[in-house]
Amino acid sequence: MTMLRLENVTVRYGGTVAVDGVSLAVEEGELLCVAGSNGSGKSTLLRGILGLVPLAEGRVERGRAAYVPQAEDSGPDFPATVWEVVLTGTQRPGWQLPLYSRSNRRAAAKALADLGLTRLARQGVGTLSGGQMQRVLLARALCGHAGLLLLDEPCAGLDPAMRRVLYDLLGRLRRDEGKTVLMVTHDLNEVRAFAGQGPIPPRVAVMEHGKLAFTGPLGDYGREGA
Ligand code: ADP
Ligand code: MG
Repeated sequence: MTMLRLENVTVRYGGTVAVDGVSLAVEEGELLCVAGSNGSGKSTLLRGILGLVPLAEGRVERGRAAYVPQAEDSGPDFPATVWEVVLTGTQRPGWQLPLYSRSNRRAAAKALADLGLTRLARQGVGTLSGGQMQRVLLARALCGHAGLLLLDEPCAGLDPAMRRVLYDLLGRLRRDEGKTVLMVTHDLNEVRAFAGQGPIPPRVAVMEHGKLAFTGPLGDYGREGA
Protein backbone atom coordinates (compact mmCIF):
# COMPACT_ATOMS: atom_id res chain seq x y z
CA MET A 1 0.00 0.00 0.00
CA THR A 2 1.30 3.47 -0.88
CA MET A 3 1.54 5.65 2.24
CA LEU A 4 2.81 8.79 0.56
CA ARG A 5 2.58 9.95 -3.03
CA LEU A 6 4.04 13.17 -4.42
CA GLU A 7 3.35 14.38 -7.93
CA ASN A 8 5.40 17.24 -9.33
CA VAL A 9 5.65 18.92 -5.91
CA THR A 10 7.05 22.43 -6.28
CA VAL A 11 7.58 25.01 -3.52
CA ARG A 12 8.73 28.58 -4.05
CA TYR A 13 9.83 31.17 -1.52
CA GLY A 14 9.31 34.41 -3.42
CA GLY A 15 11.48 34.00 -6.52
CA THR A 16 13.47 31.04 -5.13
CA VAL A 17 12.40 27.56 -6.24
CA ALA A 18 13.25 25.49 -3.14
CA VAL A 19 11.59 22.24 -4.31
CA ASP A 20 11.32 21.68 -8.03
CA GLY A 21 8.96 19.10 -9.51
CA VAL A 22 9.48 16.22 -7.09
CA SER A 23 7.50 13.03 -7.75
CA LEU A 24 7.84 10.10 -5.39
CA ALA A 25 5.88 7.24 -3.85
CA VAL A 26 6.65 5.62 -0.50
CA GLU A 27 5.18 2.24 0.42
CA GLU A 28 3.96 1.06 3.81
CA GLY A 29 6.84 -0.14 5.99
CA GLU A 30 9.48 1.62 3.92
CA LEU A 31 12.42 3.68 5.16
CA LEU A 32 13.24 6.47 2.72
CA CYS A 33 16.30 8.55 3.54
CA VAL A 34 16.43 12.02 2.02
CA ALA A 35 19.99 13.23 1.52
CA GLY A 36 21.58 16.21 -0.21
CA SER A 37 23.67 19.24 0.59
CA ASN A 38 22.56 22.21 2.69
CA GLY A 39 19.94 24.29 0.93
CA SER A 40 19.00 21.51 -1.52
CA GLY A 41 15.37 21.64 -0.32
CA LYS A 42 15.09 18.66 2.04
CA SER A 43 13.36 20.50 4.89
CA THR A 44 11.12 22.37 2.50
CA LEU A 45 10.08 19.07 0.92
CA LEU A 46 8.96 17.80 4.33
CA ARG A 47 7.12 21.06 5.05
CA GLY A 48 5.42 20.81 1.68
CA ILE A 49 4.34 17.23 2.39
CA LEU A 50 2.82 18.39 5.68
CA GLY A 51 1.12 21.45 4.19
CA LEU A 52 3.21 23.79 6.36
CA VAL A 53 4.21 25.67 3.21
CA PRO A 54 1.89 26.07 0.22
CA LEU A 55 2.66 24.11 -2.95
CA ALA A 56 3.24 26.27 -6.01
CA GLU A 57 2.51 23.20 -8.13
CA GLY A 58 1.78 19.52 -7.74
CA ARG A 59 -0.03 17.43 -5.16
CA VAL A 60 0.53 15.28 -2.09
CA GLU A 61 -1.47 12.26 -0.98
CA ARG A 62 -0.72 10.92 2.46
CA GLY A 63 -2.12 9.38 5.57
CA ARG A 64 -1.73 10.72 9.06
CA ALA A 65 1.79 11.92 9.76
CA ALA A 66 3.91 12.67 12.83
CA TYR A 67 6.69 15.21 12.30
CA VAL A 68 9.90 16.00 14.08
CA PRO A 69 11.29 19.26 12.66
CA GLN A 70 14.97 19.98 12.28
CA ALA A 71 16.32 21.11 15.66
CA GLU A 72 16.42 24.85 16.19
CA ASP A 73 19.15 26.55 18.14
CA SER A 74 16.69 28.04 20.61
CA GLY A 75 14.87 25.45 22.65
CA PRO A 76 11.19 25.48 23.55
CA ASP A 77 10.09 27.81 26.29
CA PHE A 78 6.77 26.62 27.63
CA PRO A 79 5.81 25.30 31.05
CA ALA A 80 5.35 21.59 30.33
CA THR A 81 7.22 18.56 31.54
CA VAL A 82 8.86 15.91 29.37
CA TRP A 83 6.04 13.52 30.30
CA GLU A 84 3.31 15.99 29.29
CA VAL A 85 4.92 16.72 25.94
CA VAL A 86 5.45 13.05 25.06
CA LEU A 87 1.90 12.17 26.13
CA THR A 88 0.42 14.68 23.66
CA GLY A 89 1.83 12.46 20.90
CA THR A 90 -0.81 9.84 21.70
CA GLN A 91 -3.72 12.20 21.08
CA ARG A 92 -5.90 11.55 18.08
CA PRO A 93 -6.68 14.45 15.73
CA GLY A 94 -9.68 16.53 16.70
CA TRP A 95 -9.46 15.36 20.30
CA GLN A 96 -9.59 18.58 22.29
CA LEU A 97 -9.36 17.57 25.92
CA PRO A 98 -6.11 16.32 27.40
CA LEU A 99 -7.65 13.07 28.61
CA TYR A 100 -5.46 10.05 28.20
CA SER A 101 -6.36 6.40 28.37
CA ARG A 102 -4.29 3.79 30.12
CA SER A 103 -2.98 2.59 26.76
CA ASN A 104 -1.95 6.17 25.86
CA ARG A 105 0.01 6.36 29.11
CA ARG A 106 1.56 2.98 28.50
CA ALA A 107 2.66 3.99 24.98
CA ALA A 108 4.13 7.27 26.24
CA ALA A 109 5.96 5.55 29.10
CA LYS A 110 7.40 3.00 26.69
CA ALA A 111 8.59 5.71 24.30
CA LEU A 112 10.22 7.54 27.23
CA ALA A 113 11.99 4.36 28.30
CA ASP A 114 13.04 3.49 24.74
CA LEU A 115 14.70 6.86 24.32
CA GLY A 116 16.32 6.90 27.75
CA LEU A 117 14.10 9.68 29.08
CA THR A 118 12.39 8.05 32.04
CA ARG A 119 14.63 9.83 34.52
CA LEU A 120 13.73 13.19 32.94
CA ALA A 121 9.95 12.63 32.89
CA ARG A 122 9.11 15.31 35.49
CA GLN A 123 11.63 17.86 34.25
CA GLY A 124 10.42 20.97 32.43
CA VAL A 125 11.22 20.89 28.73
CA GLY A 126 12.63 24.43 28.94
CA THR A 127 15.58 23.05 30.93
CA LEU A 128 16.67 20.36 28.47
CA SER A 129 19.76 20.24 26.29
CA GLY A 130 19.33 20.16 22.51
CA GLY A 131 19.94 16.41 22.33
CA GLN A 132 17.52 15.72 25.18
CA MET A 133 14.81 17.81 23.51
CA GLN A 134 15.41 15.98 20.24
CA ARG A 135 14.76 12.70 22.07
CA VAL A 136 11.58 14.13 23.63
CA LEU A 137 10.25 15.14 20.20
CA LEU A 138 11.15 11.71 18.78
CA ALA A 139 9.42 9.95 21.69
CA ARG A 140 6.35 12.11 21.10
CA ALA A 141 6.25 11.22 17.39
CA LEU A 142 6.95 7.51 17.90
CA CYS A 143 4.29 6.82 20.57
CA GLY A 144 1.36 8.07 18.49
CA HIS A 145 -0.97 6.53 15.93
CA ALA A 146 0.41 8.17 12.79
CA GLY A 147 1.39 5.67 10.11
CA LEU A 148 3.87 8.04 8.49
CA LEU A 149 6.87 9.44 10.37
CA LEU A 150 8.56 12.50 8.87
CA LEU A 151 11.86 13.12 10.64
CA ASP A 152 14.12 16.03 9.68
CA GLU A 153 17.71 15.24 10.67
CA PRO A 154 16.63 13.31 13.77
CA CYS A 155 20.17 12.09 14.42
CA ALA A 156 21.70 15.56 14.70
CA GLY A 157 22.43 16.13 18.37
CA LEU A 158 22.22 12.45 19.27
CA ASP A 159 25.33 10.52 20.29
CA PRO A 160 26.21 7.36 18.31
CA ALA A 161 24.70 5.00 20.88
CA MET A 162 21.40 6.89 20.84
CA ARG A 163 21.41 7.01 17.03
CA ARG A 164 21.71 3.24 17.02
CA VAL A 165 18.77 3.03 19.47
CA LEU A 166 16.73 5.25 17.16
CA TYR A 167 17.46 3.09 14.08
CA ASP A 168 16.51 -0.02 16.06
CA LEU A 169 13.26 1.62 17.17
CA LEU A 170 12.39 2.72 13.65
CA GLY A 171 13.14 -0.79 12.39
CA ARG A 172 10.80 -2.28 14.97
CA LEU A 173 8.02 0.20 14.16
CA ARG A 174 8.35 -0.57 10.44
CA ARG A 175 8.37 -4.31 10.96
CA ASP A 176 5.79 -4.70 13.74
CA GLU A 177 3.45 -1.78 13.08
CA GLY A 178 3.97 -1.20 9.36
CA LYS A 179 5.01 2.39 9.98
CA THR A 180 6.53 4.27 7.08
CA VAL A 181 9.54 6.49 7.71
CA LEU A 182 10.84 9.38 5.66
CA MET A 183 13.92 10.84 7.30
CA VAL A 184 16.44 13.48 6.31
CA THR A 185 19.99 12.40 7.06
CA HIS A 186 23.50 13.13 5.86
CA ASP A 187 25.05 9.90 7.01
CA LEU A 188 24.08 7.15 4.60
CA ASN A 189 26.90 4.91 5.87
CA GLU A 190 25.23 4.99 9.25
CA VAL A 191 21.92 4.04 7.66
CA ARG A 192 23.67 1.15 5.89
CA ALA A 193 25.17 0.00 9.18
CA PHE A 194 22.20 0.49 11.49
CA ALA A 195 18.95 0.43 9.55
CA GLY A 196 18.83 -3.24 8.65
CA GLN A 197 16.68 -4.34 5.79
CA GLY A 198 13.24 -4.30 7.39
CA PRO A 199 10.25 -5.46 5.36
CA ILE A 200 11.63 -3.49 2.37
CA PRO A 201 15.30 -2.50 1.89
CA PRO A 202 16.00 1.16 2.75
CA ARG A 203 15.80 3.58 -0.14
CA VAL A 204 17.52 6.88 -0.66
CA ALA A 205 16.35 10.06 -2.37
CA VAL A 206 19.12 12.56 -3.07
CA MET A 207 18.15 16.19 -3.64
CA GLU A 208 20.16 18.73 -5.63
CA HIS A 209 18.94 22.29 -6.11
CA GLY A 210 15.38 21.29 -5.26
CA LYS A 211 15.26 18.39 -7.70
CA LEU A 212 15.48 14.67 -7.07
CA ALA A 213 18.91 13.73 -8.42
CA PHE A 214 18.69 10.02 -7.48
CA THR A 215 16.17 7.63 -6.01
CA GLY A 216 16.76 3.96 -5.51
CA PRO A 217 17.79 1.28 -3.06
CA LEU A 218 20.45 2.47 -0.65
CA GLY A 219 22.56 -0.51 -1.66
CA ASP A 220 22.81 0.87 -5.22
CA TYR A 221 23.66 4.42 -4.22
CA GLY A 222 27.25 5.40 -4.94
CA ARG A 223 27.76 2.57 -7.45
CA GLU A 224 28.42 3.28 -11.10
CA GLY A 225 28.29 7.01 -10.62
CA ALA A 226 24.76 6.85 -9.19
P1 ADP B 1 17.84 21.86 3.32
O1 ADP B 1 16.91 21.39 4.37
O2 ADP B 1 18.13 20.86 2.26
O3 ADP B 1 19.12 22.42 3.90
P2 ADP B 1 15.88 23.98 2.92
O4 ADP B 1 14.66 23.29 2.49
O5 ADP B 1 15.97 24.43 4.32
O6 ADP B 1 17.15 23.09 2.53
O7 ADP B 1 16.11 25.24 1.98
C1 ADP B 1 15.99 25.17 0.57
C2 ADP B 1 16.14 26.56 -0.04
O8 ADP B 1 15.05 27.37 0.35
C3 ADP B 1 17.40 27.28 0.41
O9 ADP B 1 17.84 28.08 -0.66
C4 ADP B 1 16.90 28.17 1.54
O10 ADP B 1 17.70 29.30 1.67
C5 ADP B 1 15.50 28.51 1.07
N1 ADP B 1 14.57 28.71 2.21
C6 ADP B 1 14.31 27.82 3.18
N2 ADP B 1 13.38 28.29 4.03
C7 ADP B 1 13.05 29.52 3.57
C8 ADP B 1 12.14 30.52 4.02
N3 ADP B 1 11.37 30.35 5.10
N4 ADP B 1 12.07 31.66 3.29
C9 ADP B 1 12.83 31.85 2.19
N5 ADP B 1 13.70 30.94 1.73
C10 ADP B 1 13.82 29.79 2.40
MG1 MG C 1 17.09 21.16 6.40
